[in-house]
Amino acid sequence: MSGSKRLLEDLEADRQWAESMLLDAGALKECELHGYLVDQMDSSAFEDAVLAGRQESSENEEAIRHKLQNVLNDYGDECPGCEANAAD
Ligand SMILES: [Zn+2]
Repeated sequence: MSGSKRLLEDLEADRQWAESMLLDAGALKECELHGYLVDQMDSSAFEDAVLAGRQESSENEEAIRHKLQNVLNDYGDECPGCEANAAD
């Protein structure tokens, strides 16, 4: 089962890499109060992240775009902590 464990670790590394690209470009931001990552809905920041990703990766633009978009899709455009506070 070491093969599938390695695959999971690769996926996790990929994900962390994509997250750091999105954070550096400002497409994702951490909520100062709760620490959740929040999608900034900023398409130009997303393009910056794709550009930065292309500098760091040997993969083609399509693959990088897909990878970054997948990670971004996991986050909402509001921090779950702030949403819960607003509902009170
Ligand atoms: Zn928050």
